[in-house]
Amino acid sequence: MILSLLQDSSFITTMRQTILSLLQPAFPSPFVTVAMCCAIVAVCGLGDHLLVKTYSIKQSSRLLRALIDNSSHALIGGLSWAVVEGPALFTGSRAWLHCVLCTAIASAVDVDHFLASGTFRLEKALKLRGRPPFHNTGLLVLAVIVCWGLRGWHRSFSLLALMLLVGGLSHQLRDGHRRGLWVLPHGSSPPLSAGVYRGLIVLLALCARLLYCRGWGMAMEDVGGREKYYHRPTEMV
Ligand SMILES: [Zn+2]
Repeated sequence: MILSLLQDSSFITTMRQTILSLLQPAFPSPFVTVAMCCAIVAVCGLGDHLLVKTYSIKQSSRLLRALIDNSSHALIGGLSWAVVEGPALFTGSRAWLHCVLCTAIASAVDVDHFLASGTFRLEKALKLRGRPPFHNTGLLVLAVIVCWGLRGWHRSFSLLALMLLVGGLSHQLRDGHRRGLWVLPHGSSPPLSAGVYRGLIVLLALCARLLYCRGWGMAMEDVGGREKYYHRPTEMV
């Protein structure tokens, strides 16, 4: 059955046209997208490398390692959203504002260490018995679904849902390299390899771009008949 479908040239042509019609409007500047995906992988690699380096230096402080770790999360969240915005980055400040918001979300996930420890002391925050709640992927998915459900009340929730997904899940995937993904009530997965977690973050950004182009808080317009896309201002600032 599958073999006969593959041998049918009209089926292959239809499939190709369907895929192209989905991808071409979403990725009008493939080189920009590829460059940003490479930047995500590079920041993942650099962050991991610096953490290993600082672990091997006894004098290096917990604060330094926490700063390296959290700024890597933040930068990866921001770059992932840059993939989502695509060419809109070159046409308006709102796209940059969205990148900053996603950067903040990716960074803010670690706030739960302090909330769970009940103190702002870094030593205690890093010595929790279990993993704090914002690192639970099940909880993140629930928050995304709730935000998506509220989009009828205010359209900004549609965008917020996607930002939570990109910022929060990119953070959790990177943490998953060390501790696995934590999905209550099913427990944790085995730690993700470097290649897997980096690939999944890039895939997350690309899928989010496709969702964004298909109505998650954004509409695309062809400006002046040129192959240039930008997004209509959303109500979220
Ligand atoms: Zn974390």
